[in-house]
Amino acid sequence: MDKYKVLKKYFGYTSFHPGQEEMIDSLSNGRDVLAVMPTGAGKSLCYQIPAILSDGISLVISPLLSLMKDQVRSLNQAGVPAAYINSSLTEGQIRKALRLAGEGAYRIIYVAPERLVSPNFLSFALNADIRLVAVDEAHCVSQWGQDFRPSYLKIAGFIGQFPHRPSVGAFTATATAAVRRDILKLLSLRDPKIVVSGFDRPNLFFGVETPRSKDQWILQYLSHHRDESGIIYCATRKNTDRLCDFLNAHGYLSTRYHAGMSNEERISSQDNFIFDRIKLITATNAFGMGIDKSNVRFVIHYNMPQSMENYYQEAGRAGRDGDPAECVLLYSPQDMIIGRYMIEHRERNEELSDGEFEELRRRDLEKLRRMEKYCTCPGCLRQYILEYFGEKAGSSCSGCSHCTGGYAVTDATWEARKAVAAAVELNGRCGLKNMAKVLCGTVREEDKKRRFSSLRCWKALDGMEETDVCDLLEALIQDEILSRSFPGGYPVINPGRLAEDILSGKKSFMWRRPAEKKESRNAPVRMENEGAWSEEDLMALLRGLRLTISQEKGLPPHIIFSDSALSDMCRKLPLTEREFIDVSGVGFRKAEEYGERFLQVIRSFCARFAIREISDDPKKGRQRKTYRQDQRLRFMLTPSEASAFVPSEEPCSMAHFAKVLSDLKEPSEVRKLFGVDVEGKLLSLDVLKKEKKETGEYAVPGPRAQEFHLSVQEKLSAKGTAYQTVLLSPEAQMMILRLYTAPEDQK
Ligand code: ADP
Ligand code: MG
Repeated sequence: MDKYKVLKKYFGYTSFHPGQEEMIDSLSNGRDVLAVMPTGAGKSLCYQIPAILSDGISLVISPLLSLMKDQVRSLNQAGVPAAYINSSLTEGQIRKALRLAGEGAYRIIYVAPERLVSPNFLSFALNADIRLVAVDEAHCVSQWGQDFRPSYLKIAGFIGQFPHRPSVGAFTATATAAVRRDILKLLSLRDPKIVVSGFDRPNLFFGVETPRSKDQWILQYLSHHRDESGIIYCATRKNTDRLCDFLNAHGYLSTRYHAGMSNEERISSQDNFIFDRIKLITATNAFGMGIDKSNVRFVIHYNMPQSMENYYQEAGRAGRDGDPAECVLLYSPQDMIIGRYMIEHRERNEELSDGEFEELRRRDLEKLRRMEKYCTCPGCLRQYILEYFGEKAGSSCSGCSHCTGGYAVTDATWEARKAVAAAVELNGRCGLKNMAKVLCGTVREEDKKRRFSSLRCWKALDGMEETDVCDLLEALIQDEILSRSFPGGYPVINPGRLAEDILSGKKSFMWRRPAEKKESRNAPVRMENEGAWSEEDLMALLRGLRLTISQEKGLPPHIIFSDSALSDMCRKLPLTEREFIDVSGVGFRKAEEYGERFLQVIRSFCARFAIREISDDPKKGRQRKTYRQDQRLRFMLTPSEASAFVPSEEPCSMAHFAKVLSDLKEPSEVRKLFGVDVEGKLLSLDVLKKEKKETGEYAVPGPRAQEFHLSVQEKLSAKGTAYQTVLLSPEAQMMILRLYTAPEDQK
């Protein structure tokens, strides 16, 4: 069997993700490897496929019991004989597992690193035909990483004892240079093939929101994501408890997880979440390590985390299955104050010298500052993330709240100058609110008024709303144009580090604010439309069946089928066993075990809505009719929704256009259109084509661009490199609108 056959037969996939093949080929040829790939990239397959292809036994060293259990269950479900040996088993069970392993019952054996030095295990390992040792979460070997595990240091010694050294694979998502060096050295890798794949997670949407009430924002969000599984991270235990109660009181069943709970409580919460019995979990950052649940559809941060490293790791728990998922950070300036307080009042670790402690604190404050910058930066969030982790990125992504027009950026240099001048003149006499009052001339009390009204900065920003001026001052503080200090125990505003640059004209100030939210229109009463169906309806049925099976078997739902496998069923609508095996994520074993039950649901759904039928004509074979194809497009406007569209006079970006169309849908509709969707559609119609450049692939005008009246604009990125963007003229907008409008009879 070759690797492609294994991929389809056991895992149900038809193509490899970037980097996987290289890793698989190298390991299969006996070469060591180091793979640095982001969460969800599919690292497990990189060692599981060589293990299945090899005649011998493969060991996988993994740091966490829950991870091992999850992976072994998945492998067994896929039809691969695998087992784990760790402290969750009794001595008797371990003896039995080792005996079976010695008899060749397992292809893949997962072990905790501590196990490598146990005499029983050693005597098994050194006598067995071990061809491959895979070290998962290899960063645990490094003290620079976040999850150092001293027992990982024993791995090299363990491998050194084999008369025929097996090939060694190291896998991690942590990419800093220091960690990578440690892995190479401390695991004694020999001439390894190294693959570092991009850190981007294209299926994740990144957003930063600054709502007035975070609680209300979350309620609103959840009302659009009812059936989905999600994590809400809070900074403190207290807030975790409070938010969990709040959500439950508002009808959103939620469980909780933090270090203040008993071990049993935590295990039960975690299980409820993993088994989809409860879809929502509110948690501190204690939750998540070792959680491989693949169908987490959103991760919301109620507070700003302490560093980008933490944020990307936590947010990255969304969408491991590759389906679209959202990561939203709810930011308020308060978060920065709390974060700084926590770092500055941290308890002294006795093992550190004064200098080291100071250095650590300095480093953490810097990390916090860079985290805050993410929350307040005017540009593309994905670009910010990738550049933070040392990768090149395009300046716009159509997959973050900034690129999809969630924010308006205006040049507020003039206003910034007025504010700096005021800070100089007031000379530390005012806090933020009072300063805003002075700038607007809205100080009430007469005597104060007398004191301030003779100042030059009095009413300097006359005409602006006081709340807007407060927002402006806050933004200036974040950009270090103003600063806030606490001389007498209460906060006052002073010029900041970069104040001079603003006054001298060396620097401009771009103010980023949430774009005006459209008033949500009154949702029209929906007509029950008999005969209409949507993918979501079928998805709900399939999820229901998955949950039933999960309860029958005592297995987490995502191990039975991932969300992406269920979505593919909705897309392909298989009606026969043959067709079922074509679904992505369906291997031979799962088709055998669950195929018929899922097929029944799909068949009766199709029959009910007369969606598909199979041709009886044997000559036509699998050429089947597919009805109402157009209804299956993900995003469609009804003619009446489309009639409300007004094209923008200026040529606009695809992201902006997609946002405008999405806004035409009634608020209860979950479906959204994104810039990438529009781009994909235009690519498929040859209106755009892909062009390869040094920094990646870009969509540029294609053969039919003229017909669609596309225009191209030259732009300069923040770094000064020139790039082109494709814009939609008013004519183009109308033409594309038609592509997204359902014909009259199918409202
Ligand atoms: P990692 O360990 O890199 O975080 P996993 O190995 O847990 O990622 O894989 C993440 C998800 O991607 C799993 O649900 C897995 O089944 C899926 N996956 C892996 N490789 C492929 C592939 N080639 N095609 C489709 N899905 C894949
Ligand atoms: Mg993994």
